[in-house]
Amino acid sequence: MLSVVSIGPGSLDLLTERARERISSADVIMGNERYIELIREIIPTGAEVITGRMGTEVERAKKAVELGNRKNVVVVSGGDAGIYGMAGLVIEVIGDFDMDSKLEIIPGITAASASAALLGAPLSNDFAVVSLSDLLVPWSEIEKKLERLAKTDIAVAIYNPKSKNRTVQLEKAYEIFMRFRDAKTIVGIVRNAEREGCEIEITALEDLPDSYHRIDMSTTVVIGCSQTENLGGRMVTRRGYERKYDYDRGEGETGNQEHEKGDYVEAGDRIWEKSKAIVEDIVSKYSGSLSEHERRVVERVVFATADPSFLNLLVFKHLSVEKGIQCIKDGKTIITDIEMVKAGINKRYREKVKCFVNAPKTTEIAEKGNVTRTAAGIRLAKELIHDNIVVIGNSPSACLELFALIEQGIKPAIIVATPVGFVNAAEVKEKILSFGVPCVVVKGVRGGTPSAVAIVNEMIEIAYGRGEDEK
Ligand code: SAH
Repeated sequence: MLSVVSIGPGSLDLLTERARERISSADVIMGNERYIELIREIIPTGAEVITGRMGTEVERAKKAVELGNRKNVVVVSGGDAGIYGMAGLVIEVIGDFDMDSKLEIIPGITAASASAALLGAPLSNDFAVVSLSDLLVPWSEIEKKLERLAKTDIAVAIYNPKSKNRTVQLEKAYEIFMRFRDAKTIVGIVRNAEREGCEIEITALEDLPDSYHRIDMSTTVVIGCSQTENLGGRMVTRRGYERKYDYDRGEGETGNQEHEKGDYVEAGDRIWEKSKAIVEDIVSKYSGSLSEHERRVVERVVFATADPSFLNLLVFKHLSVEKGIQCIKDGKTIITDIEMVKAGINKRYREKVKCFVNAPKTTEIAEKGNVTRTAAGIRLAKELIHDNIVVIGNSPSACLELFALIEQGIKPAIIVATPVGFVNAAEVKEKILSFGVPCVVVKGVRGGTPSAVAIVNEMIEIAYGRGEDEK
């Protein structure tokens, strides 16, 4: 019998009964020295103990499989054996071969849950675990995963954060999270959870470097998300109960209570200010090469979409923002591909926005020319396009029509292009960037009405200042 036994984070009272039972009836116990030390007092006197150092896991696994055919062999693994532990390796070593004896994996408490319990409840909602160890996985892959995780608003538990020889990985992870998350995000650090020398710290993401000195290979770092708070010294990620229940008033569902309308307005203001501050913080880390007005446009798009990845997608060419602001000050016409863009544009300027997608002649042009209605709408706007503002929010085929007009010598003053889709969108936007016409473009397959509207509205706001009720 071969048992891969999880021994939990350290303290023996967190061992499961099943794990304890297997250890007590083992003929052979194998594991790395540290784990053997942790369970020393419950190893039966007659058992043979085979220790190995880190880095000798493969030999140990092979030996365990071989011995397991004849004896009760226990391979101990820290935390949960199935989480960066010995279970996977043992199964890989066995491969497709039929083992004579039985193999069992006994689960345990992993470092993330042990650390989370000591911090409070930071993993109450969706979360991910990532290891910074690049001994087996190339760092470039880890970095990509970190970026995706940082962009996703969930808590992240980091294993193997730092060792004597590996220190830059944590610094790089910090930089990535600072780029995509609010600097004030709550972070929990637990060293030696459930072991001697246990240290627990709750801090803010921006202050993480101050704690590097206490982070080592026995440390788990938990980076919270936007729902994570420090409540009375406990790190907790809200699951949404607070939206449904009002704890303070003890009156059950909040929906049952009467609020003054003013409360909502005030709450709305607070949310707006808070979001704005978060966005400004995110964008400020990127805005080195942007002008003040470009930075404002970027902020508006990130604010409208709640998606920091637009930072990397927005491209400004030929002083387009300044040109756009000037055009708006001059009261120039805006031509758009779809009604939705028009509807989103600030009402102070909406009467200057033209969209012909639903004009009576559009259907005829579309049918005769075998083009889409949005393309036909742009063709209908031909006389208006020269030296005015063109905003293509959605349709790659409208861009193709615009190219045809540009070839005829009709030149818009500025193009805002954010068409979306897997077919053609990325290509047409690259082409727009190559024209030499001032343009604001969301590169790649993404974009859409919200980003187009945000770009235009910010230019309107820069030109005319913020309107009374514009938030
Ligand atoms: N199988 C183990 C994880 C092995 S990876 C488990 O499930 O817990 C090793 C990493 O786990 C360490 O670098 C550290 O980040 C984390 N870890 C393991 N034990 C820990 C402990 N007692 N306290 C804090 N972190 C721990």
